[in-house]
Amino acid sequence: MAKIEDYAPIVGQSVIDDLKLIAERLKGKVVQHINSTSVGGGVAEILNRMLPLLRELGVDARWDLIKGGVDFFEVTKKFHNVLHGRLDELTDKDFDIFLETSSRNIEEVNTYGDIVFIHDPQPIALVNKKAENKWIWRCHIDVSDPHQRVWDFLMDFIVKYDSAVFSAPSFSQQLPIRQFLIAPSIDPLSDKNKELPQEIIDGVLIKYNIPQDKPIITQISRFDRLKDPLGVIEVYKKVKKYNDCRLILAGGGASDDPEGVQVLQEVQEMAKDDPDIHILLLSQNDIEINALQAASTIILQKSIREGFGLTVAEALWKAKPVVASRVGGIPLQIAHKYSGLLCQSIDGAAFAVKQLLNSPAYAKKLGENGREHIRNNFLLTRHLRDYILLFLSLYYKEDVVRL
Ligand code: UDP
Repeated sequence: MAKIEDYAPIVGQSVIDDLKLIAERLKGKVVQHINSTSVGGGVAEILNRMLPLLRELGVDARWDLIKGGVDFFEVTKKFHNVLHGRLDELTDKDFDIFLETSSRNIEEVNTYGDIVFIHDPQPIALVNKKAENKWIWRCHIDVSDPHQRVWDFLMDFIVKYDSAVFSAPSFSQQLPIRQFLIAPSIDPLSDKNKELPQEIIDGVLIKYNIPQDKPIITQISRFDRLKDPLGVIEVYKKVKKYNDCRLILAGGGASDDPEGVQVLQEVQEMAKDDPDIHILLLSQNDIEINALQAASTIILQKSIREGFGLTVAEALWKAKPVVASRVGGIPLQIAHKYSGLLCQSIDGAAFAVKQLLNSPAYAKKLGENGREHIRNNFLLTRHLRDYILLFLSLYYKEDVVRL
């Protein structure tokens, strides 16, 4: 596991010294994170990397999970979809299921933290246990245009928190509590992002029978409709008419995402006649994801909606040219034509991919700019600093502290 000092060569010693200084002020406070899954998806990804570093900095950071059955996660998946603006039928029964499971979790989960840090809607109702401690609701979803009924339902809980955190300015909402804008981050020293020897990259491609004979276009994502895997295949088919290439669509599932199996089947069906399309069902294997990103010529992230899109940051950090949808937190990471290319349609994405395949020097420059943009804005050390300052701010009155 990386130590905090290991980040100094990447971000500069002063950043590390600063972190130590501010973390000192949180001594004695327990920060308890609570979400609904320890593997799969961006939240678990970040917490797994962040908590050991917070502890090393002297912050007593812990992580607990809520429990729920398939029915509960089906409902929270629907919440997720409609908050992202997708149409989905919600019934009164769905809200009852959410409240029933929440009641059980309210009884069973011990909220012992001085600061209780709740991630996303699944555990949101735990705030009904709020006592003297401080509570933060961290929303990782793009709620710029949320479903009104679900948002109103959640608001009954949100108003009980001390603060709310959103990933991008466009997600902020009118709230009677303080809100903070904190973008997520990636860990440059994790297995997913560290530099890999070429033999390891080659080994992973051999394992999955992917020849490195043509340019490789890759999207790494859970098999989720909002990641638009079928759209990715359409983009590839349009490109393929002009530029010979391969497509890798790789992803596993998150344990709180019941829809994945069906989406994967649809993707396999659409890809079955083309040996240059590689559909990979990955178990949680960060080195493999890293290797697939590193081996790619272009990374695609054709999401219909996106919270932040960690996969974009991961690809840019590897200095890859990225073509990604202009949604959610992606435009924070990609300045169009500077650190990647943004698109808004299948045709637009196909055009951008062709352009990059035909102009390798331009593609290289976009990738290099992207890496520096991530270094300056979206690495774990910046995120740690923002969170520590957020925790400290909870103990100050609003008019005293300006972050
Ligand atoms: N990821 C993974 N295995 C997979 C698919 C994705 O470990 O099969 C990782 C991916 O590399 C990224 C995170 O999960 O670190 C996904 O975060 P993102 O913000 O892109 O999307 P989310 O899944 O949270 O919607």
